[in-house]
Amino acid sequence: MTNTDTFYVKFWGVRGSIPCPGMTHRLYGGNTSCLEIKAGNQTLIFDAGTGICQLGHSLLKDNPLSLNLFFTHFHYDHVWGWPFFEPALDNKVDIRIYGGSLGKKLTTQKIMTKLIENQETLVNQSSLRAKLYFSDFVPGDTIRLEQGVSILTTELNHPDRAVGYRIEYRGKSICYLTDHEHGNMKIYSQLVEFIYNSDIVIYDATYTDAEYLEHIGWGHSTWQEGVRICNDANVKTYVAFHHDPNHDDIFMDNISQDLKKMRPGSYVAREGMVLKL
Ligand SMILES: [Zn+2]
Ligand SMILES: [Zn+2]
Repeated sequence: MTNTDTFYVKFWGVRGSIPCPGMTHRLYGGNTSCLEIKAGNQTLIFDAGTGICQLGHSLLKDNPLSLNLFFTHFHYDHVWGWPFFEPALDNKVDIRIYGGSLGKKLTTQKIMTKLIENQETLVNQSSLRAKLYFSDFVPGDTIRLEQGVSILTTELNHPDRAVGYRIEYRGKSICYLTDHEHGNMKIYSQLVEFIYNSDIVIYDATYTDAEYLEHIGWGHSTWQEGVRICNDANVKTYVAFHHDPNHDDIFMDNISQDLKKMRPGSYVAREGMVLKL
């Protein structure tokens, strides 16, 4: 049951690139990017990485269901789970799907249709029985949902580009900045302003600073850069996210310890973690 004070984020997938199940990745989880944000009675989903499959099971307990699905971009690790998202098969479900047009001629609807048009799997276009409403926006736009939920958007620095989000509800805010490479000072200043005074910032921490030197231009950042931007933007809680699948639980535990020393109160995202506001 929800009430109007409800505002939380739950992490259903915290990895970048590819899913990495297995005993060595059990503590932090192996699914790719997916967040659930509940603001009042609004359900917002960010990205449809493989984490969205388990989220789908949990959502089907409520019926009828009205969902809002936002994409940062359409690289595979952010859409892997879409063909296996059970609510999309249910005719009692409404899903509003949002994507930043990012200057391309392709619309969100075209991209989503293309993803499954040649599927020989569980889902094809005709099995999607949910009512789907597609919306394209330009980074910089603000999307307003019922109950006073606002979603601000901005452009990130990523190959093929990606969108950053700031979700505001009842004077609190959660920001989601994944698939972003640091280093461009103009974008850095814009982002500091965009996330300023946020309660929670979830940031692309794919690499360590040392690893980054081998991955310049790949479109990702480091957990140390996340500390820097959160300090400059007076952010309350920093969450390192989009972990490299090569980082096993021992490696992630070490990052977590170093992160908590450098910025107490921060978290390394792990599957199943819930942060309430
Ligand atoms: Zn990614
Ligand atoms: Zn990407």
